Amino acid sequence: MKPRILIVYTGGTIGMIEDPKTKALRPFDFSHLMENVPKVKMLDYKIDNIQFSQPIDSSDMDPDHWKTIARSIADNYDFYDGFVVLHGTDTMAYTASALSFMLGNLDKPVIITGSQLPIGEVRTDGEENLITALQIAADRRPDGKTTVSEVAILFENYLWRGNRATKRSADNFNAFKSNNYPQLAKIGLGIQFNYDALARHCHPQPLTPYYELDTNVVSIDLFPGLSEQNLRYQLANPGVKGIILRTYGAGNAPTSQWFIDAVSEAVQRGVVILNVTQCVNGGVHTNRYVSGDLLAATGVISGHDITFEAAITKMMYLFGRGLDAEQVKKLIAEPLVGELTLSSI
Ligand code: ASP
Repeated sequence: MKPRILIVYTGGTIGMIEDPKTKALRPFDFSHLMENVPKVKMLDYKIDNIQFSQPIDSSDMDPDHWKTIARSIADNYDFYDGFVVLHGTDTMAYTASALSFMLGNLDKPVIITGSQLPIGEVRTDGEENLITALQIAADRRPDGKTTVSEVAILFENYLWRGNRATKRSADNFNAFKSNNYPQLAKIGLGIQFNYDALARHCHPQPLTPYYELDTNVVSIDLFPGLSEQNLRYQLANPGVKGIILRTYGAGNAPTSQWFIDAVSEAVQRGVVILNVTQCVNGGVHTNRYVSGDLLAATGVISGHDITFEAAITKMMYLFGRGLDAEQVKKLIAEPLVGELTLSSI
């Protein structure tokens, strides 16, 4: 039977055209995209597509859009072998992370891709990315199961776990990278899957989508010069249930009493604070330095090696499930869908 793939087109550079007057890129509709990739027809697949009523630049992506994408996949889950989501690169890693939490028990490929140059341009990377994403979504293991059974980002030469990826370049065709998890596949002349890194579900369960996300979450960036007044103002943000605290190095923060007191008071008020390092590689090891130890003693939770994109969407998802602060604290520190690695040091 031919592989059945559903393309969900949300917008992004891949489907944009140049405004003849201003020369700025703006989203165009999907028929234009397919017209520009006649090669897709050479794949012997059954391909259908649906698109956002208004394709967007992914800078406008929000949780309602994530709900629309998740619903498009969940409503069509039984009718397709795999899904390809076409998306702008700017917030692709956030969408990939959010979907990985929202699509509970996912056991089929959801491959997200886009491009740095519009698909109609001569040097576009969009054509290759789209074709490779379709091939990955259709790929099967010898036992007949799809090779990929998780949310992943395909871009140029690599397939990355969605909730481990980060946009690392505004210019390079290899725009994404996972700094703390190996590639799921390397794309060269062929597609070389890294079977050890791919998720495998031995006892698949029915898909359980969660659509509610709670956006009462924020992030606070540490920097030398952050004042007590500024920090307290951010911590006291009304209605905020969760904060991603972006710390230095191995999860370190100032040791001043005012800093520790301000953070402790927020934790005592019931705000969940997750420690995520500003470093792109490595993770939080709070017992390595006194500065990290002091922070952990306030009740701030370690985010281990999670990306910022996965951390903030995971918080939205956990609070969206109606969990209380104690339950969120417990689950945020555990890997749910391969988004973090617990470290023993
Ligand atoms: N601004 C665009 C977007 O994220 C960039 C891109 O697609 O590469 O939609």
